[in-house]
Amino acid sequence: MLNHRIYNFSSGPAVLPVPVLEKAREEMLSYRGCGMSVMEISHRSSQFEAILESAKQGIRDLLQIPNNYQILFLQGGASLQFSMIPMNFLAGGGSADYVITGTWSEKALAEADRCGSTRIISTKKDGGYKAVPTQEELRFSPDALYVHYVSNETIHGVEFTYDLDGHGTPVICDASSNILSKAIDVEKYALIYAGAQKNIGPSGVTVVIIRDDLLETAPKNQQSILDYRNFAEHGSMPNTPNTWGIYIISLVCDWLHAQGGLASMEKRNKEKAALLYAAIDSSDGFYAGHAERQARSQMNVTFRLASEGLERKFCEEADANGLNGLKGHRSVGGVRASIYNAFPKSGVETLVDFMNDFAARNS
Ligand SMILES: *Cc1c(COP(=O)(O)O)cnc(C)c1O
Repeated sequence: MLNHRIYNFSSGPAVLPVPVLEKAREEMLSYRGCGMSVMEISHRSSQFEAILESAKQGIRDLLQIPNNYQILFLQGGASLQFSMIPMNFLAGGGSADYVITGTWSEKALAEADRCGSTRIISTKKDGGYKAVPTQEELRFSPDALYVHYVSNETIHGVEFTYDLDGHGTPVICDASSNILSKAIDVEKYALIYAGAQKNIGPSGVTVVIIRDDLLETAPKNQQSILDYRNFAEHGSMPNTPNTWGIYIISLVCDWLHAQGGLASMEKRNKEKAALLYAAIDSSDGFYAGHAERQARSQMNVTFRLASEGLERKFCEEADANGLNGLKGHRSVGGVRASIYNAFPKSGVETLVDFMNDFAARNS
């Protein structure tokens, strides 16, 4: 039972690849023979510098990030980015556009409103956050300093299937729950950020990919620990970074390479999601998907049952069968299966079997 693993559908912190955990265990007491754990070595040591470089290069290779973008590792979660972005790029005056597709974009907007002026250029709130706008629907303000959107709304399970094109307006994207799940066109973005604990590592570290020209517009008198420029100039280490988190990210990148990179992950993620959506669609309404079909997330599959009582029973029985973490976010209820990169197809198949069986027994 010591190494017993269950199917973990948690939205984050979330499942990590078993080979990554095994590698970390193998290197736990003595990192590559240095006699110390990664957690015990100086962030200024040559060993850690190599780990940081490997994590950066791993992300750069996987996403094919051009050289005019910096890759930074910050702390404070994706939530700190909600504040840092407007502090760096809005507080000096002007206005920013926000696209609202769910709870996380609402939270990002609320923090920006504390710093300066914002405009909501699109919101799907009235429909209950079941959809995302098409590129054609979006009208950017001519003077917008940037446009912010969330490429995958983790709570509602809606995802953009395209890289938003700002047509000259710098695009800032919260990709916390779908970064590295598929190939994207990085050059469409001025800044991409992601808390690591969904798809790329443990909690406590945030990846920021920022284009040099945006970086240069950050004010010079910013509080230094909230200043992107300071992180860029000091190679993500103006202070002690989350060394362990960065180490795990480097191992996850190695694992993704070994899996064939993002094209191969995208294919697998599509297959996994398709299995679950097919189970929902073929259930004669026993399961009702939350998102509209065109906006269905490949990462977070959200659905409802006829009553809250039945949803509770579903999650309890699933848990007893080794299918953990299916309860929807407390703010919206329902059921949510988070099936990130590291989540195995066998777990999706097991859930589909359980869903069919549960429906047969309860309808
Ligand atoms: C989880 C999540 C966040 C918040 O992340 P923290 O690291 O907890 O601050 C923000 N945005 C999205 C899309 C998320 O999924």
